[in-house]
Amino acid sequence: MLKYDEPMSKHCSLRAGGITREFCSPENIEELSEFLNHNHLPVLFLGLGSNLLVRDNGFNGVTIHTKHLNELTLSNGLIGAEVGATLAKLSRFAQTNLKHGAEFLSAIPGSVGGALAMNAGAFGSEIWQYVVSVRTINLAGKIQQRDKSDFVIDYRSVTHNHVDEFFISAQFDFDLEEANDNVRDLLHKRNSTQPIGLASCGSVFKNPNGNYAAKLIEESGLKGYCIGGACVSEKHANYIINQDNASSSDIEKLILHIQNTVKTLHKVELEPEIIII
Ligand SMILES: Cc1cc2nc3c(=O)[nH]c(=O)nc-3n(C[C@H](O)[C@H](O)[C@H](O)COP(=O)(O)OP(=O)(O)OC[C@H]3O[C@@H](n4cnc5c(N)ncnc54)[C@H](O)[C@@H]3O)c2cc1C
Repeated sequence: MLKYDEPMSKHCSLRAGGITREFCSPENIEELSEFLNHNHLPVLFLGLGSNLLVRDNGFNGVTIHTKHLNELTLSNGLIGAEVGATLAKLSRFAQTNLKHGAEFLSAIPGSVGGALAMNAGAFGSEIWQYVVSVRTINLAGKIQQRDKSDFVIDYRSVTHNHVDEFFISAQFDFDLEEANDNVRDLLHKRNSTQPIGLASCGSVFKNPNGNYAAKLIEESGLKGYCIGGACVSEKHANYIINQDNASSSDIEKLILHIQNTVKTLHKVELEPEIIII
């Protein structure tokens, strides 16, 4: 369950990143609670690593991998999901149980926990639209039930006053009368516009108000621009691809270069969506 000096490049979809001092994969929530209760190191929660970049000098703390906390349940019409469940699995579970509205999640390659932290969304829907309540765990391993109203939800942003609490599960009300999207169509739409299957973290920047980050980057002539092994995707300008053994530093330098170029040419400050540790 506990490893030391684990390379984060193995766990992040950008395939870059230094080592984490400790790497803990609890089998269940009781084990996680017990571990946190005895831990004194800084903590980083990790889902599928599809929106995370750990710098080359690594993380001097413990990374909690939520992979095994992946139970899904149906009770009183609500779906309960532990945070390590993948969004694809949650979407399938909802479909199997004739709950509609979760189709869009099948297009996002993340875990429930990462999606709750980021307010992940696609095709006009966001995960927090469907949240009823969540359970959190704090650094001492104490578990709390929290209502949706305890959180301030915004575009790719979730804030709350309970510092040092992490998500461990959520209850969802997928209540549409019928599916508003066909999963196969959504995946087809995504695959035709995005460089799927390559080492990336999806969209690097949030869309600025009334504009699109990809459009601004493309109009800045940056498609295909590379620093070290990190390149702006030719297919979708808001994607950075780890094309040739890029370091986290290559990727971060490219992020800065894009921000500076877009600011100079368009007077727009691009805000990263990717989390850098
Ligand atoms: C090809 C591709 C396409 C993508 N398309 C989309 C898209 O359409 N829409 C979209 O929104 N995103 C998209 N993403 C980005 C990413 O998939 C989402 O942000 C996803 O929700 C991240 O989930 P994760 O489990 O991988 O999180 P991670 O990358 O593991 O973590 C992301 C952040 O969440 C925190 N976190 C993780 N688990 C918890 C927890 N249990 N409690 C508290 N904090 C936690 C981490 O510490 C980190 O800060 C895409 C990524 C890729 C690679």
